[in-house]
Amino acid sequence: SVEASIPEPQREAWKRNQITSFVDKDGFEQEVVRHVETTLARSMFNCDEIAAYSATSLAFRDRLITHWNKTQQRQTYRDTKRVYYLSLEFLMGRALDNAMLNVGLKDIAKDGLSELGFRIEDVIKQEHDAALGNGGLGRLAACFLDSLATLNYPAWGYGLRYRYGIFKQEIIDGYQVEVPDYWLDFNPWEFPRHDVTVDIQFFGQVSKKTIDGKSMCMWEGGEIVQAVAYDVPIPGYDTSTTNNLRLWSSKASGGEFDFQKFNSGDYESSVAEQQRAETISAVLYPNDNLERGKELRLKQQYFWVAASLYDIVRRFKKSKRQWKEFPDQVAIQLNDTHPTLAIVELQRILIDIEGLPWDDAWEIVTSTFGYTNHTVLPEALEKWPVGLVQHLLPRHLQIIYDINLYFLQGVEKAFPDDRDMLRRVSIIEESQPKMVRMAFLAIVGSHKVNGVAELHSDLIKTTIFKDFVKIYGVDKFTNVTNGITPRRWLHQANPRLSELIASRCGGNAFLTDLTLLSQLERHVDDKQFRKEWAEIKYANKVRLAKHIKDTTGVVVNPASLFDVQVKRIHEYKRQQLNVFGVIHRYLSLKAMTPEQRKKQLPRVSIFGGKAAPGYWMAKQIIHLVNSVGAVVNKDEDIGDLLKVIFLEDYNVSKAEMICPASDISEHISTAGTEASGTSNMKFVLNGGLIIGTCDGANIEITREVGESNIFLFGNLSEDVEDLRHAHTYGSHTIDPDLDKVFNEIEKGTFGTPHDFSAMIAAVRHHGDYYLVSDDFRSYIEAHQLVDEAYRNQDDWIAKCITAVSRMGFFTSDRCIEEYAEEIWNVEPLAVDRH
Ligand code: PLP
Repeated sequence: SVEASIPEPQREAWKRNQITSFVDKDGFEQEVVRHVETTLARSMFNCDEIAAYSATSLAFRDRLITHWNKTQQRQTYRDTKRVYYLSLEFLMGRALDNAMLNVGLKDIAKDGLSELGFRIEDVIKQEHDAALGNGGLGRLAACFLDSLATLNYPAWGYGLRYRYGIFKQEIIDGYQVEVPDYWLDFNPWEFPRHDVTVDIQFFGQVSKKTIDGKSMCMWEGGEIVQAVAYDVPIPGYDTSTTNNLRLWSSKASGGEFDFQKFNSGDYESSVAEQQRAETISAVLYPNDNLERGKELRLKQQYFWVAASLYDIVRRFKKSKRQWKEFPDQVAIQLNDTHPTLAIVELQRILIDIEGLPWDDAWEIVTSTFGYTNHTVLPEALEKWPVGLVQHLLPRHLQIIYDINLYFLQGVEKAFPDDRDMLRRVSIIEESQPKMVRMAFLAIVGSHKVNGVAELHSDLIKTTIFKDFVKIYGVDKFTNVTNGITPRRWLHQANPRLSELIASRCGGNAFLTDLTLLSQLERHVDDKQFRKEWAEIKYANKVRLAKHIKDTTGVVVNPASLFDVQVKRIHEYKRQQLNVFGVIHRYLSLKAMTPEQRKKQLPRVSIFGGKAAPGYWMAKQIIHLVNSVGAVVNKDEDIGDLLKVIFLEDYNVSKAEMICPASDISEHISTAGTEASGTSNMKFVLNGGLIIGTCDGANIEITREVGESNIFLFGNLSEDVEDLRHAHTYGSHTIDPDLDKVFNEIEKGTFGTPHDFSAMIAAVRHHGDYYLVSDDFRSYIEAHQLVDEAYRNQDDWIAKCITAVSRMGFFTSDRCIEEYAEEIWNVEPLAVDRH
């Protein structure tokens, strides 16, 4: 056993001196003061809020790390199967509040900090978001880590420790400006593991050698970059399980710079190698749902995948099991195609280093991996030029060709009459230049492929992966509808609502069994309950209104209907449809008499989200929203009836403030384009309704909450292709009301018309790919229904409560249970609750 490896007297000494974590206010205060004085070298005379944040975080980190150690020891001792979640993005947000709530000591910290002279809210706000992701995909990974720990699964996340996360967005003169996000100045949540390093090889050449009579491929030469591990503890809620997120940082393998060159006066090249190595993990690519095929990105992918697999294999080898047991000990989930090289890397390790026969190795590989697809958008599907892969990873390209050869041989045998099939499904696209299709490689190398919502999982089976369903059978393809962690997205983001729900649902048990929310439905008619519910929503809106005033200077009335669309700016997500709708509303209000206006419902249209720096159209959309706001917000005819706000720098901590303050939120992608969406779930769970298309998880949300508690509009996904075809080959008439909106923009009402001419032309002249005009009428009508429904506040609140009570399905705990059972075949390790 692990214990027996240490002699009895020493073991006793360690046990005698075991660290005990604080359990009460006094213990917490002692830890904070100790960290202020000894770790931060400050005192009560110069302890500002940042120091208070740092010391509080360190106190909690100490606590987490003792649990982390025990969790890892327990998992090693039991030698259980582990799950490895490989994701190039982890959009974690802040850690302190989450840690305090998950270990159940926030009240103690609040009182302790108060005695030391600080307000806990101010201390929490000092933390910089860990923003190592773009949007939904990265946030999903973060929610999954929370659920994996909460449900006591032995699980590790593997990612990259970017020095710069997603850029910070500033709005200057109505335009997006990107500012670097250097977030590592002081990060108490990571542990550098300078002793855990892996040498990663790039470039070089492959030769054949005979070793012990066996012909082996050797990958030699090229350059070596070192991966250094940084560990982030992931605490579960109400459990002592604390899992690990391991992030790799890149470093020159020789350590420092070249002294010889330095001494001979060649200062520049003496640091060049070091800088080149460090560049690999320097920055997160800021594209959401778009792949650009940059060499550095491929380097990032291999660097991260190779370091992670080395680590996983090293851990497996400690148990001295046979290789064929690898899939019984290890499940690896690929979050999108970004880590697909892991399939090739494991095959390489098994055949080139461990000397296994190809077929045995391939059996192990395909039993180990699962692949999650996140999109059907063609521009987001990853492909790499064969020449680039050959240059960077020569041995891997050979293995990819071999995988493809064996795969196509099987296909040829099974479908002798469909010659074109080979071309369609080949991992190598015979284009100019030739490309490696990463999604196809991921399918061939995995035992399960899943989409992230029912519609999306159906679409991948009938469109992009249709042939693979024929080849492998339908059972290889499955669905796991996305979910969100109710700990962060309700309990932490909306503490008052969480408390009110707890008072009607038998305490906090709903936080780990979200189906218990159904008990709320009994209270829908309870007047007192509705009143408290409405008060909490109003208070959340007051808080957001204050943020709007502080950041934009615009005063909004919290009694207005708050209409929110916050997410990455993308044509498929259709913020342009929203802003055209806002202009339509403005024109309608302007056309009214003052008497008529008095009868209208005041509204605040709130937008937020980042545009990829190279995505020109998305930036134009931001500019239009701001230009419309600049006109509408100072129009005295309109006053409170309409305000248009663009919130700068949308991120996880802003989302935690915005979601609880929404009355209606917009999830209005062109049908068939949004794989799932997860903010839709967050908004409903926080007692806001949604207006949306029949797309992604909106469909399942509708099934759960009922059609009367959601505002659906627009064309269905099955009609999209025909409509696009008609636009291109038939006549395309623009909706007359939308035409009026366009005319108003072109008149110059919202600034230089030329700025927006491409946005208008996309609809009028370039085929309206996103069906903005086709859906405009039903969108406007759906908003009229929203207005009408909102007028009856009593009914509205009842709808919100009913919707929340039916949201149990959308917890990420349910997702993780489904993955564990259907894909990973892994069991939780039972442990003590806190
Ligand atoms: N970005 C951030 C900062 C988020 O918190 C979320 C939450 O879901 C998303 C993006 C994803 O939003 P959506 O599902 O609307 O694309």
